[in-house]
Amino acid sequence: MLNKLIFVINCGSSSLKFSVINVQKKKILLFGLAENFNNKNSYIKWNINNTQKKKNFYIKINHKIILNYITNNILKKYLLYNNIIAVGHRIVHGGENFVNSVIITKKVIEAIQKASIFAPLHNPIQLIGIKEITKILPHLKNKQVAVFDTAFHQTMPEESYLYALPIKFYEKYKIRRYGAHGTSHKYVTQIASKILNIPLNILNCISCHLGNGSSITAIKNGKSIDTSMGLTPLEGLVMGTRCGNIDPAIIFYMFNELNIQIDKIYKILTEKSGILGLTNITSDFRYIENNYSKDNKIKRATNIFIHSLSKYIASYRILIGKKMDAIIFTGGIGENSVLIRKKTIKKLEVLNIFIDNKLNNEIKFGKTGLINTINSIPILVIPTNEELMIAQDTFNIINR
Ligand code: ADP
Repeated sequence: MLNKLIFVINCGSSSLKFSVINVQKKKILLFGLAENFNNKNSYIKWNINNTQKKKNFYIKINHKIILNYITNNILKKYLLYNNIIAVGHRIVHGGENFVNSVIITKKVIEAIQKASIFAPLHNPIQLIGIKEITKILPHLKNKQVAVFDTAFHQTMPEESYLYALPIKFYEKYKIRRYGAHGTSHKYVTQIASKILNIPLNILNCISCHLGNGSSITAIKNGKSIDTSMGLTPLEGLVMGTRCGNIDPAIIFYMFNELNIQIDKIYKILTEKSGILGLTNITSDFRYIENNYSKDNKIKRATNIFIHSLSKYIASYRILIGKKMDAIIFTGGIGENSVLIRKKTIKKLEVLNIFIDNKLNNEIKFGKTGLINTINSIPILVIPTNEELMIAQDTFNIINR
């Protein structure tokens, strides 16, 4: 039986991810992706009943066209439409306004608009998603929920979220650490609580979300107390194409001495740095894993990534204090890269964290499990599921 379904929407700048989820059964009935909106290679593909479907458009498309297509040609065709009871929207930035997911009202829309200055590529597009859904599914107008990537991190204390800048930049302009990947960190923390049989409100762990963008979060008593991404997702760990932490003076040097324009510098730091910048070859960790021992450039870049990650884990281990329940790996790299997990954990043995190589080799491709030795703090690999988390939050909020 289909019963109550949640429609989950994640609007990117030129893409849209969607799914239809039965929360009570934790079952994803439909998921799909539309991409390349701004050129003639635009398409939508989706998976239903384990069957993959695709339609090419050969024209420029937009979020409005795609949401109409999904509704009329997918949801109605596969008889999901009438069972959808609410819509969950992924919203990248909630500023300081949202500690939790919320029903979307006029006030919420205004706050999302206001937070657009910190996520100019995402928030305005996600507002378009909300507006279109209100038109296409008017009966669900008051059943739309905003789930913020930043909300989970709103529990951070001041010493974690304030930068040491003149305080007016926070007080007047709200420049501070907001973090990202909150939905993923929250999801894996909840799953860890179940696996370890430790109530969420006393669970202490470190969550490493390692994907194209990577962030790490210290979680105490089930709440985020520090995270590596900052005002934007550029800060923190070395990533696929982002530089992570660098001396901010490098930017002035590039600008003043190398005469590189500011928008070009931004592009270098976000799209041409990280593993891609260091190797000049790739940001794909599948390639990294296969070529680590064969190519010195790959080895060097990987060692820099591992150095950055292990330093963060060690410093967050101190923040957490005596009772440490787990380290969690998630995201495409965290879930699959045996090499990154092994080499990172190897550096942390002094903290009583030891990897079991046999278990580590076995846990990948969507498997969940422990990869530590018996004398170690538990190390968990948990596939993230941001869509399910968004659907769960949406379901819980509209049933309150
Ligand atoms: P996003 O941040 O875009 O959601 P993902 O979480 O899907 O990204 O992670 C993408 C990263 O995961 C890429 O660097 C990719 O190379 C890496 N990855 C995916 N599968 C594997 C694998 N089997 N082994 C190693 N790395 C992998």
